[in-house]
Amino acid sequence: MAEMKTYAGACHCGQVRYEAQTDLAQVISCNCSICSKHGLLLTFVSPEQFKPISGADSQTLYQFNKKVIEHLFCPTCGVQSYGTGKGPDGKRMYAINVRCLDGVDLSTLTPMPYNGRDT
Ligand SMILES: [Zn+2]
Repeated sequence: MAEMKTYAGACHCGQVRYEAQTDLAQVISCNCSICSKHGLLLTFVSPEQFKPISGADSQTLYQFNKKVIEHLFCPTCGVQSYGTGKGPDGKRMYAINVRCLDGVDLSTLTPMPYNGRDT
């Protein structure tokens, strides 16, 4: 099993910074309208595994469709380094953009296709 680690995440310009604890065992590549445009690779963590460091409140909020997910963008560089929303069980989850984490070799991941377009 993959090892649980704390990764540092950030947008491109560095205004938004956070830490996320994950083993990257489940990384999804979703085909919904926004994920496909961003090329997002996502992993989900609980609030206990997510620590905002800076810039969280300065982000631009974008919502569409059922408005259940808060897509957050850095207002300066436009990168969505994470999003947040409530899972089916009502618990808050953070969707981490794996491409924004330091020290992740994307070529070692096997993203799971997720059919978000039709859900
Ligand atoms: Zn930025």
